[in-house]
Amino acid sequence: MLIDSYDRVVDYLRVSVTERCNFRCQYCMPEKPFSWVPKENLLTFEELFEFIKVAIDEGVKKIRITGGEPLLREDLDKFIKMIYEYEPSIDLAMTTNAFLLKGAAQRLKDAGLKRINVSIDTLKPEVAQAIAGKDVLKNVLDGVQEALQVGLKVKVNMVPMKNINADEIIDVLEYSKERGMSIRFIEYMENRFAKADVLGVKSQEILAILRQKYAFEDEGFDGASPSHYYRMKDGYRFGIIEPHEDDFCKKCNRIRLTAEGNLIPCLYFDEAMSIAESIKAGDIKGAAAVLKEVVRTKPEKNRWGTEDDEVSNRAFYETGG
Ligand code: SAM
Ligand code: SF4
Repeated sequence: MLIDSYDRVVDYLRVSVTERCNFRCQYCMPEKPFSWVPKENLLTFEELFEFIKVAIDEGVKKIRITGGEPLLREDLDKFIKMIYEYEPSIDLAMTTNAFLLKGAAQRLKDAGLKRINVSIDTLKPEVAQAIAGKDVLKNVLDGVQEALQVGLKVKVNMVPMKNINADEIIDVLEYSKERGMSIRFIEYMENRFAKADVLGVKSQEILAILRQKYAFEDEGFDGASPSHYYRMKDGYRFGIIEPHEDDFCKKCNRIRLTAEGNLIPCLYFDEAMSIAESIKAGDIKGAAAVLKEVVRTKPEKNRWGTEDDEVSNRAFYETGG
């Protein structure tokens, strides 16, 4: 079992398979980065899988494939199948912008993928274009529809932003609710790669908007999930991810692996250790030692919400969110 210095059990690995993306979301990657990680520096799926086996053997129970946009990487279904066949009980999920999901959902499910989280920030084509930098909404919603049809469990992520999509908080919740998808509103996390004028909407403001139409009860946190949950009278549950709140990191159970093999203990901070060298050399013990050291040095909390330093230097498209 992997336990950090604050007695948190770390059993959740997020694997970013590429930092590249077909969207230019204002809050994440508004401009194409000056340079991408060269292709030859990326770990192959076989190499990523070698490390994933180490992580599973050390106690990881949940793996999320993310990016950048994970569906840009060829043969993703084969990678998913490798993980599934090694440990069928693993909770295997993916976060995607869904643009390329149509035509791929069945293959991913057959490979062993259990759940997906999709980003739906708006239901208006022109707003989607403004957020993502191109006309994406039809593909996204078609992809979501297909994922539901093939029987994947789908959760929706929405990042509300002032003067952009905050007026759609109720609409996106209702769209999700009508289709049996739960929704999580994610507070915008300030980072130096985002567009400078993005203004997030804090959890209390999100709740105030929802209260105009709905009554709901505060259910608090559930296990290690970062969401603060609320339940409506008809039983529908929604979540808010509030990294600016003081207790957000208390139950954090996750570490992140980038596409070039950097293992990152916290989404906010720059610190990372590479597993690339050990994995390429077939040094499984070395890779396990790096994993344990990264868990040992996991910081107690992020710095969003603190007065002096609340802009992260980490790119979300590198860590996978
Ligand atoms: N491309 C995929 C997608 O958009 O779902 C996966 C990668 S994306 C980095 C993962 C998650 O991070 C998405 O739900 C996205 O909304 C969220 N995200 C990215 N930048 C963020 C920010 N600055 N604040 C809050 N959430 C952010
Ligand atoms: Fe791409 Fe996802 Fe970042 Fe948007 S949030 S730019 S879709 S990685």
